[in-house]
Amino acid sequence: MARPERIYLDYAATAPLRPAAREAMFAALAAGGNASSVHTEGRAAKQRIEEAREEVARLAGARPAQVVFTSGATEANNWVLAGLWKRRLVSTVEHASVLAPAERHGAALLPVDGDGLIRVDAAQGETGTLVSVQMANNETGVLQPVEDIAARVMEAGGVFHCDAVQAAGARALDFRSSGFAFMSLSAHKIGGPQGVGALVMRDEGRLPPLLLGGGQEKRKRAGTEAMALIAGFGAAAQAAMAERESFAKRVEDWRGRFEARLRSALPGLVVYGEGAPRLPHISCFGLPGLSAEALVIAADLAGFAISAGSACSSGKVTPSHVLAAMGCSEEEARGAVRVSFGWNTDEMDLTRFADAFIAQAQHMTGAPPTAAPLAEMRV
Ligand code: PMP
Repeated sequence: MARPERIYLDYAATAPLRPAAREAMFAALAAGGNASSVHTEGRAAKQRIEEAREEVARLAGARPAQVVFTSGATEANNWVLAGLWKRRLVSTVEHASVLAPAERHGAALLPVDGDGLIRVDAAQGETGTLVSVQMANNETGVLQPVEDIAARVMEAGGVFHCDAVQAAGARALDFRSSGFAFMSLSAHKIGGPQGVGALVMRDEGRLPPLLLGGGQEKRKRAGTEAMALIAGFGAAAQAAMAERESFAKRVEDWRGRFEARLRSALPGLVVYGEGAPRLPHISCFGLPGLSAEALVIAADLAGFAISAGSACSSGKVTPSHVLAAMGCSEEEARGAVRVSFGWNTDEMDLTRFADAFIAQAQHMTGAPPTAAPLAEMRV
């Protein structure tokens, strides 16, 4: 399986930096300036930040004044969960940056079904309750009916938070007309830099400031802004918005063809979340009995970057909490790998990976090899 170059299929962990984001960051670093200063350099820094805020707001379907920059979605999620809520309700398939603070604050858990979906009517939230449900899962790509859940929660007097990290750039976000009180975003999943994100908030008075100090970010999060990272986030948001529809159209059938190709050669293949609506660019699958870790290493040696479960939990030997919540056995969960793609992927990259994966899996299971023609899937 020798390959002349690497094929990166781990966008859900982090997407490659977009050229526009890199340029915006270099320009911001070269210009310098502190956005709180009144002189020309300071005002220019402030303008860069406010332009980025407008781009991120456009991506979120929110007003710029509703966007607060953070160090990433982990910070945004922790901030919301730490609010002064009477009760907290979160789904069992949330990212660790929701689940861990939820656990610390004694939150109740919303279960999911075998496809990873939450029942809309399970998410009741009376006054003083925070309900937090992700828009799309980072391991399976399963999309939750967050608009319906938010409407119910709001009707009952609760407050709804949505972690929209994985859906941003792939789905149209409309914070303004949603029932969301809060929404978390991360730059590096849309081709921006790592270490910057945003919390979009409807009623800022509901959440105490995260950091006290200078008056930055409307006194909600003190500290000199990470101007270059924010500028990179803005540029990535602008590019992701500009390409969202063409991206959706381009990749519409890719995942279906990719999974069909794997399945035709590997009859035992399980696709997780298959019965639920999913993001078009994430596929989580496995062959019970095979080790995902071994598959990821073999793929890496062959030139493909994929992951076993979520990147945040790989490295640990514990199987994915997401698949466990969906009712998978430990053995099944240990065999699950995730392929995710994005703005710089060609369908041929997926086809090449599928063929390499099939050959490797057949080798590992002792099945006779099938000669899958390389370009068959490319139409
Ligand atoms: N939520 C989800 C759904 C994620 O996938 C991630 C990143 N793995 C995060 C939150 C955390 O984002 P960040 O890396 O910006 O802290």
